[in-house]
Amino acid sequence: MSRRALRPASLAICVALGALGGCAPEREHRAQVYALSTLVEVSVMRRDVATAHADVAAVEQELRRVERVFRAWDDGGLAEANRALARDGHASVAPELAAALADAQALSAASDGRFDPGVGRLVELWGFNTVERAAGPPPPAARLRDALSTAPRIARVAIGRTTLDAAPAAPWLDLGGYAKGLAVDRAIATLRARGVRDALVDAGGDLRAIGAHAGRPWRIGIRDPRAPRVLMRLEVAGDACVFTSGDDERAFDWDGVHYHHIIDPATGAPARGAASVTVLREQSACAPADAAAITLMVAGPGSIDEVVQRFGLSGTVVITEDGTVHASAALARRLTPLVEGLHLVGASP
Ligand code: ADP
Ligand code: MG
Repeated sequence: MSRRALRPASLAICVALGALGGCAPEREHRAQVYALSTLVEVSVMRRDVATAHADVAAVEQELRRVERVFRAWDDGGLAEANRALARDGHASVAPELAAALADAQALSAASDGRFDPGVGRLVELWGFNTVERAAGPPPPAARLRDALSTAPRIARVAIGRTTLDAAPAAPWLDLGGYAKGLAVDRAIATLRARGVRDALVDAGGDLRAIGAHAGRPWRIGIRDPRAPRVLMRLEVAGDACVFTSGDDERAFDWDGVHYHHIIDPATGAPARGAASVTVLREQSACAPADAAAITLMVAGPGSIDEVVQRFGLSGTVVITEDGTVHASAALARRLTPLVEGLHLVGASP
């Protein structure tokens, strides 16, 4: 999976202070772990390398656990619930999974159904339930119509503390647009419980940063979805989620048309609202940021103000298929352009 938001390489500092231990200043320690079908980069500010290694190991364990519980396919916990729902119209689930689904259901309502984890069967029809989609044409229109005719909406699922009920033709629930937010939140909670105050967890372009980077803000790059370059820089400090969705991730071309993994629940086909969306949320939870990015991929730049307000965002950058960069006014003031002549539509209040 390509990374669309990254920090400039010049910040890659990792100093092993070993025996200096307690008297040494905190330095950045970076490590990569593979989880959630992506390379997750963990940066922690620590005095010694052994403690940093233990931090990363704890994060890796938690990410793997979250992945098992929330995976909608194969042997995932959510997959098991989906199979029971499809068979019996009822499933017993862990409170953790039920709570996340209830939260996702509320976010879906806030998005007017643009973000809808009920799209699982559509995602599967398009082949985007696997990391590498097998080559082949888009699914036949009749099969998409059939899937849409079952009203594949999470709103149809009654969610209790440990139960799910939906009948008949229960939707297949897919938290692919939510679970990375939750996973990054859990990773940060794991680090905080270990006494870390300054850290960054970046799950392939979806990241949360807390505290500071050696007394300075963390620097985040926002990439061009159409070229391998960073378009602008954003500085964050304190507690911030920066989440990106784009049409350049799981995608394929067929007969000159580009198809990607974010589905417009209204049409059953890949969304046409934007080429990429980056959202900034500074309210201690990234799952709503993850859902907001999908919402804007479907809704497009015309809905920026509404989505910023409904999802508690500090702002968003929406890049449309023609390359136009739209930014919410408050965020535009915080962005540093890194390429010549970058014009931000909507930047002036
Ligand atoms: P990633 O974090 O993998 O880069 P996104 O956060 O952009 O991806 O989420 C895309 C995933 O969300 C898809 O692979 C699919 O599992 C799921 N999805 C696709 N369309 C929707 C939608 N309209 N609402 C909710 N989830 C969706
Ligand atoms: Mg996401």
